[in-house]
Amino acid sequence: MSDVANKIILIVLDGASDRPVGGKTPLAEAGMRNLDRLANGGINGIMDTVGPGIRPGSDTSHLAILGYDPYKYYTGRGPFEAAGVGIDVKGGDIAFRVNFATVENGLVTDRRAGRISDTDQLAGAINEQVKVPGVDIIFKRSTGHRAALVLRGKGLSSAITDTDPKKEGNPIKECHATDDTPEAKHTAEVVNSISSQVLNILDGMPANQERKKQGLPPGNAILIRGAGVVPHIPPFQERYGLKGAVVAAAGLIIGIGKMCGLEYLPTGSMEVESSGSSAKAKMNKALEALETYDFVLVNIKGADEAGHDGNFQKKTQFLSQTDAAFERLGQLKDVLIIVTADHSTPVSIKDHSADPVPILMHGPGVRMDDVAHYNELIAYKGGLHRIIGLDVMPIALDLINKTKKYGA
Ligand code: ZN
Ligand code: ZN
Repeated sequence: MSDVANKIILIVLDGASDRPVGGKTPLAEAGMRNLDRLANGGINGIMDTVGPGIRPGSDTSHLAILGYDPYKYYTGRGPFEAAGVGIDVKGGDIAFRVNFATVENGLVTDRRAGRISDTDQLAGAINEQVKVPGVDIIFKRSTGHRAALVLRGKGLSSAITDTDPKKEGNPIKECHATDDTPEAKHTAEVVNSISSQVLNILDGMPANQERKKQGLPPGNAILIRGAGVVPHIPPFQERYGLKGAVVAAAGLIIGIGKMCGLEYLPTGSMEVESSGSSAKAKMNKALEALETYDFVLVNIKGADEAGHDGNFQKKTQFLSQTDAAFERLGQLKDVLIIVTADHSTPVSIKDHSADPVPILMHGPGVRMDDVAHYNELIAYKGGLHRIIGLDVMPIALDLINKTKKYGA
């Protein structure tokens, strides 16, 4: 091993961290043989990804870990989702999350249009036929009944309300401005116009006629929510001098990576993984990417899902299966390996919590500590102690000798 690493791999085990149940956590129970080896040969600590006591979303925490202050750059979920489904968003765009829905006699009868999944024809029709003067409308389907909408043009604002009535049996909500600016009023009008145009266009589409014939609810409306202005994010390479890539399956994480200027490297499936096999595919992709990129972010999602399900067994098993994917990490030379989580998703609360997550750094030049396992119960004994998400990139850049001296 040389004296200094020149590349970084940052592995985020989404939601892997937990609270003890009977003194045990899924990470501690899983028997993470390969990660334990890295912890043993590296430096360890715990991390508040956004800040102590702040319960992070996956989006805000990933921004922080990448060194972008979420309080400055996070403008809502819409922009990151839109980037994640492949819309080439630009700073200043207004972006939304969208559901295909079913409207009958003016009322929303199914907020997910029977979990419609074949929405290519409907999305295409929206893109081609919905028009508002002076505004570019970009619409793209995502998985299932989901989609994203971006408005581009002058005089737009994100200070507007959602059109999702949240409950079936109600009409689509009218969009309103939430401040007094002409921009917000104009944007609300644009959204309302899009809403009603979509109803007129989609109901008669062959795909919907076919669904009705089969007794399925048609995807004849869209519900628009989560308005956010696309932030101007300084690109990763400009900021750190590193050419970066992201390997992930979740649209939100892909979107964050792309908006920070990381190249998205697909591994095939857009679906969230539930077994260790897709973790292996991701790690293979990431290791291959290290030949051409200086920095690779890998997000592995399954533990978060199991946490939301409140299933200790499933979470433990997922982590245990995933560990095999990390076997080759130990052989890497010249690479700083960072393994952490973006937040805790304790099975006891089935949601994210602010409990700090374990973090390990392994590579040439790292001061080894006495921690021999990768889990949230002992990581605090390590040499990194307790850090925040925004500390990760500066520490990592220093370890690869990429930081500039402060002072003389
Ligand atoms: Zn997460
Ligand atoms: Zn989650």
